[in-house]
Amino acid sequence: MLKDLFIGLSQNQLLNSAAKKYGLKLGAQNVVAGTNVAETMQSIKELNAFGISCTVDNLGEFVFKKEEATAAKEQILEVVEAIHEHGVDAHISLKPSQLGLDIDYQFCLENLKEIIAKAANYDIFINFDMEDHGHLQPSFDMLDELSKDYNNIGTVIQAYFFRAEDDIQKYANYRLRIVKGAYKETEEYAYQDKKDIDKNYIELIEWHLLNGKFTSIATHDHNVINHVKQFVKENNIPNEKFEFQMLYGFRKDMQLQLAKEGYNFCTYVPFGNDWYGYFMRRLAERPQNLNLVVKQVFNK
Ligand code: FAD
Repeated sequence: MLKDLFIGLSQNQLLNSAAKKYGLKLGAQNVVAGTNVAETMQSIKELNAFGISCTVDNLGEFVFKKEEATAAKEQILEVVEAIHEHGVDAHISLKPSQLGLDIDYQFCLENLKEIIAKAANYDIFINFDMEDHGHLQPSFDMLDELSKDYNNIGTVIQAYFFRAEDDIQKYANYRLRIVKGAYKETEEYAYQDKKDIDKNYIELIEWHLLNGKFTSIATHDHNVINHVKQFVKENNIPNEKFEFQMLYGFRKDMQLQLAKEGYNFCTYVPFGNDWYGYFMRRLAERPQNLNLVVKQVFNK
């Protein structure tokens, strides 16, 4: 019920534009690293000091105008430059829709190419975040196209999709982030039952750990994390072959603990003023995250 409510809210364009005007509100400041590049670099340095690397996401959704996509591209290019200049341990996560996928395929491809080419010069990795089913195949198509010239790119496999097993095999030689999946998908394409999603999630992780290039296990689920720890031990999979990932501001103690135990750990660091959709999806995943909102309201 609550999940559907927050997913619905995350797709409300009117609220999204209103939120942009009012800065980080409702507790979003606990899970968004900053509104500009300078603040974000500072947050990254603080995480790096604990041996945690970062993947930086310039928040942005509902991009239907070329000027907005171009502005997003410029902002991401600025982040690439800043990562290089500051010498921080970080790479980029981006969403093809933010760079114009809903406007024009070729335009989006050119935007992506510019970012990837600049990042390649600095040896910075670019991850294509995966969005809802409507954006899935075109995003993979772009990855295929750009892979002809660049190898500093990878993507995400969402375990709720029936097709995830085929995709993970096709992209075995890529650095892949494996997640459960954050959007509302229909039974035509995706598992609906949490048990089925969790089962598929574990199977995909195990397969990629054994057969893939590099696996990013992106979850806050301690059961999955404990299972992976045991699995890599039993199968002699070295730490260099995988990392754990979590979102900025979530399970901070566990993030630090995993890094302390010697596992590669990467925090997903979102920044910018287009925080609304991202924040609503986090509330949908875990209504207890409403605590963040409540605390914020009462701390005023
Ligand atoms: P859940 O299934 O939400 O939770 C399982 C259990 O873990 C809970 O029952 C609870 O016991 C525990 N738990 C979970 N969260 C907490 C918490 N905050 N505090 C205490 N206990 C908790 N989705 C996409 O569709 N595309 C993407 O590109 C994408 N990228 C992502 C990148 C990262 C780094 C991460 C972490 C997630 C990403 N996601 C993405 C979201 C992902 O698909 C899931 O929706 C999200 O991670 C919630 O699932 P979960 O595996 O964390 O655990």
